[in-house]
Amino acid sequence: MNNVNIYLVDDEPEIADLVEEVLESIGLSCCSYLAANDFFNETRTFAPHALLILDLSMPDMDGIEVMRQLASTPSPPAIILMSGKDKSVLHSAEELCRAHALQLVTTMPKPFHIRQLIEAVNSYTSSIEQHVNAVQQPTSTYNISPAMIEEAISQKQLILHYQPQINISSGRLSGAEALVRWQHPQIGMIYPDSFIHLAEKHGLIDALTRRVIEEAVAQQKKWQLAQLNLPVSVNISADDITSLALPDQLIKMLNDNTLDARNIVLEVTESTLMGELVRSLDILTRLRLKGIHLAIDDFGTGFSSLSQLHKIPFSEMKIDCSFVKAMIDDKDARAIVKTCIILGHELNMRVVAEGVETAEHLALLKEFNCDIAQGYYIAKPMPPEAFDRYLQEKL
Ligand code: C2E
Ligand code: CA
Ligand code: CA
Repeated sequence: MNNVNIYLVDDEPEIADLVEEVLESIGLSCCSYLAANDFFNETRTFAPHALLILDLSMPDMDGIEVMRQLASTPSPPAIILMSGKDKSVLHSAEELCRAHALQLVTTMPKPFHIRQLIEAVNSYTSSIEQHVNAVQQPTSTYNISPAMIEEAISQKQLILHYQPQINISSGRLSGAEALVRWQHPQIGMIYPDSFIHLAEKHGLIDALTRRVIEEAVAQQKKWQLAQLNLPVSVNISADDITSLALPDQLIKMLNDNTLDARNIVLEVTESTLMGELVRSLDILTRLRLKGIHLAIDDFGTGFSSLSQLHKIPFSEMKIDCSFVKAMIDDKDARAIVKTCIILGHELNMRVVAEGVETAEHLALLKEFNCDIAQGYYIAKPMPPEAFDRYLQEKL
């Protein structure tokens, strides 16, 4: 693969030699610099998809300053960060990288494992290969416009996939999260990360959420007719939790279908709440009074204070998948997961772990007394027909 220019900036010559050797062993090469100043003097512009392996602690210009300078460069390289300092330093540097909108491939403690470096470089180069191939396909040249989203809502191009959630101690199915997908007649399947933020930005999220709730309620009605009582979780956005009409609309839909409000969970992300706490408190409290459950989603990624958590009547806490996925190798992530579970239980919440990808994850969550698991290890999100087949096997 020769689409990627690789640079290394590290003041230790032994590390530079080692990285060069490792890259050579997989047929790649890099330009290495022992000082960041030399790097910037010689490299003023970057080819697309360049990669920089960067040491954080260096005597002249350190890695943080390098990141700051890269942020104002037109097409900065993606970064692999290395540091001999403890993990919390790497975590903060990671956050800075995001704040500067730089692409972070991964972070590596020093000394690093050769395997780790190879995996990181390979995963980056293969993602670039996929990207280069994808842009050659006509479908991905589509730009999504607000008008297209409006059409998707009115033409019923939005469908829901359902991802099972299981009770960790019994192994039984406890519910499903409804995740929206857009089945576009020409482009094919479009995932929510490509259109939800646009819908939010252009005032279309109310209509989108209404469509999603209608669909989830219709599906729940079908399950009810098949004698199945299955709670369904739906994701809602910031605008929804400040819409005074939401509680009444939702209750009317449930009544019209003779469904139990207790079988609906509305998921609100922690970061949404931070911005909308006061305005949303009224609506969220009314929803809860009507029996609808509320979940705090992506927990751990925002900065909600404990008193805010206490003010809103959440019945469920969903621990963000980034911590769950990392908890096997990273003891800080493990401590966060363990502590969130204790906190959730103390506040009388049911705790759901997202991103459960392996048996190891599940076993550890069981040890920590987590209530519910959701993730690829249990099952991927699936269309209703596949979900029904899953149910037949499971029940
Ligand atoms: P989310 O609410 O955190 O949903 C979980 C996401 O993680 C889903 O991505 C799901 O497919 C994915 N996932 C599930 N298990 C695993 C796992 O084991 N490993 C990994 N790596 N990922 C896993 P999806 O469906 O692409 O949805 C992305 C996000 O879009 C959702 O994140 C949610 O914030 C938003 N979203 C989805 N549906 C709706 C909706 O109807 N309305 C609104 N407002 N937002 C939605
Ligand atoms: Ca969710
Ligand atoms: Ca989540």
